[in-house]
Amino acid sequence: MIEITKIIEWDMGHRVPNHRSKCRNLHGHRYRMEMTISGKIIDKPGDSSEGMVLDFGDLKSTMMMKIHDTLDHGCMIYDQDLLLTGFFESCAHENLRVIKVPFIPTAENIAEWCFEQLCNSIPAGVKIVNIRLYETPNSWADYKPDGSID
Ligand SMILES: [Zn+2]
Repeated sequence: MIEITKIIEWDMGHRVPNHRSKCRNLHGHRYRMEMTISGKIIDKPGDSSEGMVLDFGDLKSTMMMKIHDTLDHGCMIYDQDLLLTGFFESCAHENLRVIKVPFIPTAENIAEWCFEQLCNSIPAGVKIVNIRLYETPNSWADYKPDGSID
């Protein structure tokens, strides 16, 4: 098996409502997601993807459609965060990009959410082995779908 990784980035707002310090504030990050998949090299002679596990272009298209285009310049809010749910309901006519989720939008939870958005869009024969979600250049979470932490 070979592992390959593709990276995308997007800008998004969030807050951690119960946080004891500055993460309670509504703020944003340049998020970066690295998705690593594993599979066998395609050996079908003449195939467009011969010599590849999966065409990077196809991988990027899926990641952009399922993650970037849903989240970019949006605000991810916890559905129990009454401050922000109330605020965004009060300006619903503005048609802002709000992603309401049933979890606190930490890097850890967003990484798992990204996996759930992508897992059914990966072709048969390959599997996602890691989703790395950077919240800042120095802070990230790894979600490994089989639950095995190296
Ligand atoms: Zn933050």
